[in-house]
Amino acid sequence: MNRAIFLDRDGVINAMVYNPEFGLVDSPANPDEFRLLPDVGAAIRVFKSLGFLTVVISNQPGIAKGKFSTTLLEAMTGKMLAALGEQGAIIDQVYYCMHHPEGAVEDYRKVCECRKPKPGMLLKAAEELDIDLSQSYFIGDGITDVLAGEAAGTHTVLIFPSSLCYIYPELNQRNANPEHIVASLWDAAQLIQALESSRDTERG
Ligand SMILES: [Mg+2]
Ligand SMILES: [Zn+2]
Repeated sequence: MNRAIFLDRDGVINAMVYNPEFGLVDSPANPDEFRLLPDVGAAIRVFKSLGFLTVVISNQPGIAKGKFSTTLLEAMTGKMLAALGEQGAIIDQVYYCMHHPEGAVEDYRKVCECRKPKPGMLLKAAEELDIDLSQSYFIGDGITDVLAGEAAGTHTVLIFPSSLCYIYPELNQRNANPEHIVASLWDAAQLIQALESSRDTERG
């Protein structure tokens, strides 16, 4: 069986986009807004060198909300894979949930089994790619990522790039217990590399 590093997309692989008109941050809505975060390619190369599959697991309710089209989402995926590919960083598969229970676009308006914190995308990936979830990691910057990983039985790593601790009460409240908290995907790569080498040592 394969082992995988599951990666949330927005805030982990690419930067969120600040919208001054509404005063909030959101997912990029087109390829021009899609920018890789620093050291993401290097982190993914570390995961591949350790023998993991790399699988993106991302909620994109902007489709259900009519904020952008599936064509633009595909274009963003293309840009992501190409930009990482230039750095020798391979993503093996990408899964999106495009639904939202209150979406404006009827085809995508539903309560689905794939929208994180539900584990549907992880379970589907496990089946399609023959992944041992218990030997895999979910790395994300949201509480829903931690909860989805816990529900699927993966190890969990929360990226939280601030020393401010306002996320802890919310983690508690939602009963999310990330095994590890790191500041960036690069730090997550260093952590998992260290865990893998101690695992190898234990096995002799
Ligand atoms: Mg995120
Ligand atoms: Zn869904």
